[in-house]
Amino acid sequence: MKIAVAGAGAMGCRFGGTLAEAGHDVLLLDGWQEHVDTINASGLRITDERGSRVVRVPAKPFPASADDRSDLVIVFGKATQTAEVASAVGTAVGADTLVLTLQNGLGNLEVLGEYVPEDRLLAGTTTFGTELLGPGCIRALGYGETVFGALGQGHQRAVAKVRIALAQAGIAVRACSDPRATIWAKVAFNCVMNSLCSLGSIPVSALALYDGFDSLAGSILEEVVAVATAEGVTVDADSVLALIKSQFSPSASGDHVASMLQDLMNGRPTEIAHLNGAIASRALAHGLAAPVNATITHLIQLLEATWPRRVAHPTDDTR
Ligand code: NAD
Repeated sequence: MKIAVAGAGAMGCRFGGTLAEAGHDVLLLDGWQEHVDTINASGLRITDERGSRVVRVPAKPFPASADDRSDLVIVFGKATQTAEVASAVGTAVGADTLVLTLQNGLGNLEVLGEYVPEDRLLAGTTTFGTELLGPGCIRALGYGETVFGALGQGHQRAVAKVRIALAQAGIAVRACSDPRATIWAKVAFNCVMNSLCSLGSIPVSALALYDGFDSLAGSILEEVVAVATAEGVTVDADSVLALIKSQFSPSASGDHVASMLQDLMNGRPTEIAHLNGAIASRALAHGLAAPVNATITHLIQLLEATWPRRVAHPTDDTR
């Protein structure tokens, strides 16, 4: 397949590099010029538990041109960047192009829906973990599962085509019949895990140290479930809570530093407006109240605004 990756950060490079290694004709499109130049000059360096390798894959700075029209465009910017990424790569979307998003958060589908009709929009989630170490260099952290489906009804051929391409590249992939429910379940997970780990500046496992965790997580999830229900999506709070607690072990994601906390530490905008923030604003639109998620949003935004002024602990030599 001719595949363009729109927003080639950690995850875009992971998917793009893996698909290129499997023989697909991949183009990485990104807005970070130094990253693009490094990939073109020295290749994409991928480090994993087996060592380090260089994948030769072409990269181009935004915007895309008509020559970049592809069979598949995989969108992988942060949710905060989706509008910018979509407008930069709109020309790579032709009359038959499928568009796949595996981004986190709410709001991506609405933005992408302006560039591609629903019958060619595929969406879902991935539990791959990847870190962007620097220009042209990523670390693959885990192999997880990618789950996606078609938003429109009856587009199973499109799903099958993309699923086969991903599976042939060694990506564990599963098709789902209701991608919105898949996305909402991950949103619910992140509204608890990402935000609370960021507020506490703690790894995932440390959440287990707080006796009130179930009650706090439950109050976040109760509001998420109410908003999802108002939008016609079912979220099972008990299974989300059980999944979160299953990640506390070091053999799962216990030592993991949540992506939102990594964004705070790197002085980059978080996806809070697309997680707890989206729950709070959508609740208002549905005539519901989501005070817990609204407050968490404020607290994360407070951290975004003040992170460089944090008071360092005397024993903390990492700041
Ligand atoms: P990322 O931050 O690595 O990259 C996003 C964009 O930011 C890219 O265009 C990248 O080039 C740019 N960028 C990153 N660092 C930069 C810098 N120093 N200077 C200039 N530009 C820079 O994002 P990601 O981790 O690939 O996440 C993409 C989406 O996938 C998000 O919605 C995220 O929540 C989701 N996701 C990520 C992971 C993960 O492990 N990284 C796992 C599952 C889902």
